[in-house]
Amino acid sequence: MSDTKRPDGIIIALDGPAGSGKSSTAKAVARCLGYRHLDSGAFYRAITYAALHAGIQPDGWAQLTHDELDRMDVHGKPGETGYTMTVAGEDVSLQIRTPEVNAHVSRMAAVPAVREWLMDALRESGARGGLVADGRDIGTVVFPDAELKAYLIADAEERARRRLLEMGVTGLSAEDVRAEAARLQGRDALDSGRETAPLRQADDAVVIDTTSLTFDEQVERIVALARERGGVDRSEEIP
Ligand code: C5P
Repeated sequence: MSDTKRPDGIIIALDGPAGSGKSSTAKAVARCLGYRHLDSGAFYRAITYAALHAGIQPDGWAQLTHDELDRMDVHGKPGETGYTMTVAGEDVSLQIRTPEVNAHVSRMAAVPAVREWLMDALRESGARGGLVADGRDIGTVVFPDAELKAYLIADAEERARRRLLEMGVTGLSAEDVRAEAARLQGRDALDSGRETAPLRQADDAVVIDTTSLTFDEQVERIVALARERGGVDRSEEIP
């Protein structure tokens, strides 16, 4: 049972720059509360993958129409704990995390028609609440009425280090970390500088600098804030 106006619980919006740990944090917070996790970046990644796979050149992305996007057959299939991205019915969870998709996704995400096209699917996922959504514009545009908004930040090199470890890179050199930090900052610049729904902190977001927090500490902080804002633990209700 929930004590909010949404039947399944509150909406928690986690935004922040690339590699700030939003997705893994959102997933863990969702698990603690028994909520569903919505990784909105995965939707932009799946569209990017689908376009690249179909041979649609990046120069043409700004002209994509809603019909063409429909034909790409990109879906987020809801499951117990989150969404699985599919393209033409195929699970593309791995294909959307490649360096090629990393390098192109911000360009796709800057196209207003693409953002518009995705908005209904993203909003629909929050219709009943009980959701932890992460991205760049969740608290500002997608769910401006979210009960809890957190904006996660961390030093660029720390974000790069975490990202490389997550990708399984071992024996990290200072040069590896600097190069990855530059890639993340390049993506941040595109995401913050675009006209439509740029990356920015919502006025009513709680800023959490995770540079010197452990993963568990950042998860606990958000879960505690969620409980203060009326988030009720539903984890026991999920079989
Ligand atoms: O979060 P992740 O790094 O997977 O997101 C990939 C890209 O998708 C971001 O760099 C950004 O360009 C775009 N994105 C966005 N709005 C969101 C989520 C992601 O523009 N809400």
